[in-house]
Amino acid sequence: MTPHFLLNELQEAAAKAEGCLFCWLESYQVDRYLTGVANDGVNNIPLRQKLAARGGYCAFHCARFSELASPLPTAILLESFLKQRLNNAGRGKRPTKINCEACEIAQKTQKTFAKNLRQHRRSAEIQSVILNADFCLDHLELVCQQLPESVRQGLIAKHVDLRRNLAELIRKHDYRFTDETITNEEKNSLPRVLGLFNRA
Ligand SMILES: [Zn+2]
Ligand SMILES: [Zn+2]
Repeated sequence: MTPHFLLNELQEAAAKAEGCLFCWLESYQVDRYLTGVANDGVNNIPLRQKLAARGGYCAFHCARFSELASPLPTAILLESFLKQRLNNAGRGKRPTKINCEACEIAQKTQKTFAKNLRQHRRSAEIQSVILNADFCLDHLELVCQQLPESVRQGLIAKHVDLRRNLAELIRKHDYRFTDETITNEEKNSLPRVLGLFNRA
């Protein structure tokens, strides 16, 4: 990926992403893949068999598939997964370890972007997009690993307010300070920190 191409991809994602930039990039690729399977893959018997042999999709991607596809392809695909799992259970075999292909696409996307980011980590424009973006904790760690110290520190500094609000929320629950009002920012620090643990 050229620096220009990477910059374009990141800028486009940043304009659309509501939460974590990397979660958005991953979901975008996964949705494209799932839509492809929904459009013509479900009629492809070898493909269905291959997916079923992998144990089907994980719960998250089964649900995502049903959101993207109409009921018929969803029913066809889920029926093949169901058949495989019931067959496995009926034979008293070891519980299935799902090797979800959609998760694999997400991981590949993540690897590709991490590699490209590392390669172009000195680009001021790319650094600027990254510094202005939001990341979940998993992706923050991944992104920071690829970046120069100054950008890493910039990304960490963005969490100062959150940590202060959280510390205040904890302090104000102490019986000695219960007369102090908890601000909305302090209240909101809890859903905000929970959001950081969440991967879309
Ligand atoms: Zn993320
Ligand atoms: Zn999955």
